[in-house]
Amino acid sequence: MASVIVPAVPSESRPGRFGVYGGRYVPETLVAALDELEREYNLAKADPAFQAELADLLHNYAGRPTPLTFCNRLTEQLGGAKIYLKREDLLHTGAHKINNALGQGLLAKRMGKKRIIAETGAGQHGVATATVCALLGMECVVYMGDVDMARQELNVLRMRLLGAEVRGVSSGSQTLKDAISEAMRDWVTNVRTTYYLLGSALGAHPYPTMVRDFQRVISIEMKEQILEKEGRLPSAVIACVGGGSNAIGAFYEFIPDRQVRLIGVEAGGRGTELGEHAVRFRGGTPGVLQGTYSYVLQDENGQIALTHSVSAGLDYASIGPEHAALHDSGRAEYVSCDDAAALDAVVRLARTEGILPALESAHAVAEALRIAPAMAAHDILVVNLSGRGDKDMGILAQELKL
Ligand SMILES: *Cc1c(COP(=O)(O)O)cnc(C)c1O
Repeated sequence: MASVIVPAVPSESRPGRFGVYGGRYVPETLVAALDELEREYNLAKADPAFQAELADLLHNYAGRPTPLTFCNRLTEQLGGAKIYLKREDLLHTGAHKINNALGQGLLAKRMGKKRIIAETGAGQHGVATATVCALLGMECVVYMGDVDMARQELNVLRMRLLGAEVRGVSSGSQTLKDAISEAMRDWVTNVRTTYYLLGSALGAHPYPTMVRDFQRVISIEMKEQILEKEGRLPSAVIACVGGGSNAIGAFYEFIPDRQVRLIGVEAGGRGTELGEHAVRFRGGTPGVLQGTYSYVLQDENGQIALTHSVSAGLDYASIGPEHAALHDSGRAEYVSCDDAAALDAVVRLARTEGILPALESAHAVAEALRIAPAMAAHDILVVNLSGRGDKDMGILAQELKL
């Protein structure tokens, strides 16, 4: 699935487009399956019984609504904007991924599919998918790059315990991109029996829209909660951006509220050269990767660049197409945070608030730490804490010499 640099500007009016981005770039064999998925999803979305079943699971199984926690000590120490955390880390399985896995799992059940496949980077989406498959009694196969399997071993063991088969991927960079390619290959072969449960706001239409819809609950709750606590909207919402699902979920309800800054944080990795980071909006150019047209880290021949981040969940060469549109329109701002700053943010949040963030989420925390001091006391920052840090204890022990 090499990148193709698309020369012509695609039409904006087709479904599944975000400005010029998005769309559907897949082999012919998947077109009918994506059409069926789109049709079934639209029916499910409009079906009150489907929405009620999902709402019930989100509440009674996953633990929604998640709290909006005020960081008292951190705010005091930084001496500027008030900092709140949206606690997606408190969800069942430890990250926002379960919101989407439950939604798509119910959709697969409704479509009569008994076999689920998924890709995973940090392992959180694999764990969420394995969990939902156990809950709904479905077969589950998860593709995961060998590098990611080594650095997120705990999640591999969790998936196996939940009854999923984890298939290691030894091609390419052995990370998320290669896992997605393998999952797509499986889907092409087994499309009639198999549902592909994609984990981020990526891939061919309708995935970016569908995943965003399932994660939108984050900003729906966030808006209600901040209005209840503060009586006004936040100055900014900050979220880390891998494929972009937790960020689009946290941003979506605020898009019409122009006074609310939307800040996405990409993985700055260990340097600014191609291959050392995953900052798609610095050095990335529009192209097609894995079914969608968006910013891609690639060389001048369209070869996908290697990426690096201390957090497996942000280590991907492309970014969800809706973020590409929000970037170009200027509605959202995208910044980066390097490995060292993310690690510092983990320590700071752990010791100041007693909360261990996932390394991915720590990128968003780091941006709040950076900008809060220069802001006014009446400013409010809401950081989406996409997941908890338990899965990262191996890396943290190594990096922080615990
Ligand atoms: C997977 C993951 C991410 C990155 O994925 P997005 O789709 O960009 O949200 C971020 N944080 C955590 C905790 C994750 O597990």
